[in-house]
Amino acid sequence: MRGIVWFRRDLRLHDQPALTAACAECDEIIPLFIFDELLLQSHEFGSACVNFMLGCLKDLNDALSGLGAPLQWRRGEPVEQVLQAAREWKTDAVYWNRDYEPGAIGRDRLVQQRLAKLGVAVRTFKDHVVFEASEVRGATGEPLQRYSAYRARWWTKWHTTPPAVQPIPITLAKKKAAPLPLARPLPTAGELGYEPIVLAFEPGEQNALKRLRWFMKGPLHSYAQGRNLPAIDGSSTLSPHFRFGTLSPRMAIHAALNALTKGGPVSRGDVLTWVDELIWREFFQQVLTSFPHVAKGPFRTVIVPPARPAGDKRDRLFRTWCEGKTGYPIVDAGMRQLNQTGWMHNRVRMIVASFLIKDLRIDWQSGERYFMQHLIDAS
Ligand SMILES: Cc1cc2nc3c(=O)[nH]c(=O)nc-3n(C[C@H](O)[C@H](O)[C@H](O)COP(=O)(O)OP(=O)(O)OC[C@H]3O[C@@H](n4cnc5c(N)ncnc54)[C@H](O)[C@@H]3O)c2cc1C
Repeated sequence: MRGIVWFRRDLRLHDQPALTAACAECDEIIPLFIFDELLLQSHEFGSACVNFMLGCLKDLNDALSGLGAPLQWRRGEPVEQVLQAAREWKTDAVYWNRDYEPGAIGRDRLVQQRLAKLGVAVRTFKDHVVFEASEVRGATGEPLQRYSAYRARWWTKWHTTPPAVQPIPITLAKKKAAPLPLARPLPTAGELGYEPIVLAFEPGEQNALKRLRWFMKGPLHSYAQGRNLPAIDGSSTLSPHFRFGTLSPRMAIHAALNALTKGGPVSRGDVLTWVDELIWREFFQQVLTSFPHVAKGPFRTVIVPPARPAGDKRDRLFRTWCEGKTGYPIVDAGMRQLNQTGWMHNRVRMIVASFLIKDLRIDWQSGERYFMQHLIDAS
């Protein structure tokens, strides 16, 4: 049996359910990545994000090549590209990890239907989150809208069915590379239509694991306080890695909780506060799955919209915010950090977002678009 592993938001080998299953079930595997042409052309995501993704893909390709199965890549409309690849390479099955963004759900459903018509099996897996929306529900099976209730149920689920972390399927993968022509070198940022930039964050799985070890040894020990201080390295800065799946959320949470059980010097409060942030991440993913309208609009309808500046005045105010020239030091520092590095501290994200909406009275959608175009972890 020959299977394609379609890499998407999971650019790693460790604890990678689709890759592990393909290695267990197939005689030959083909790793594949698809550059979505429409998404590239929309410039919804910016150069920092695209350069970081390319760095992650290079690292993934190096690791896969070491196992004898280099990453194949294609560029175009994803549904058509997967179908063409499946036909061309005469594959029996396509494996991927699920994506919960509404557009991605529709795309994946279509790929699945069209592959079924070709007689190609599809196997999909939970990966991007520890628990999917359907696994953490209220007493009557309803999706949860309040974080405190979600968090309590999330922990119950963790204690009753703690997720395992799967090792890299090295021995299996080594034997199973499909005999295909050599993969083309990955495209450059310029070839994709983006400015090449020097990244402030190191991409790829090995750097994600290195960053996790750094965080466990250092900032985690004072995280409950340190995370509130934008001037210090008090948080993990792992969000770009969670975004592109170069780090498994299961592995990260186990690593933090293990630090407690090993009886080291780290405090329960610091560890649980950090895990709480990862549960917030899961909470927002389940909100997206259960209430998909949030991908395009507000969670609740605003009844009385506040008066807004319009025309040139609005444009000028928005520009000062984007460029970090409002005259309010913490707002400007945050926006300059975003523009220069593709990342911003959580507390400062809250301040600049609130300043845009409540002080400048500019619509949140403009701010969201700007964040999407500049954050590496934008999602
Ligand atoms: C206006 C605004 C926009 C934001 N946009 C994004 C975004 O596009 N992508 C994104 O990943 N995060 C976003 N966040 C959440 C948060 O600011 C970042 O995840 C965090 O700053 C990343 O830094 P870190 O990796 O050092 O986090 P840590 O403090 O080390 O936390 C660990 C991980 O938990 C998750 N996390 C942390 N805080 C939150 C939170 N409040 N909500 C959800 N998950 C969280 C992240 O994956 C993070 O990497 C946004 C927050 C605000 C207020």
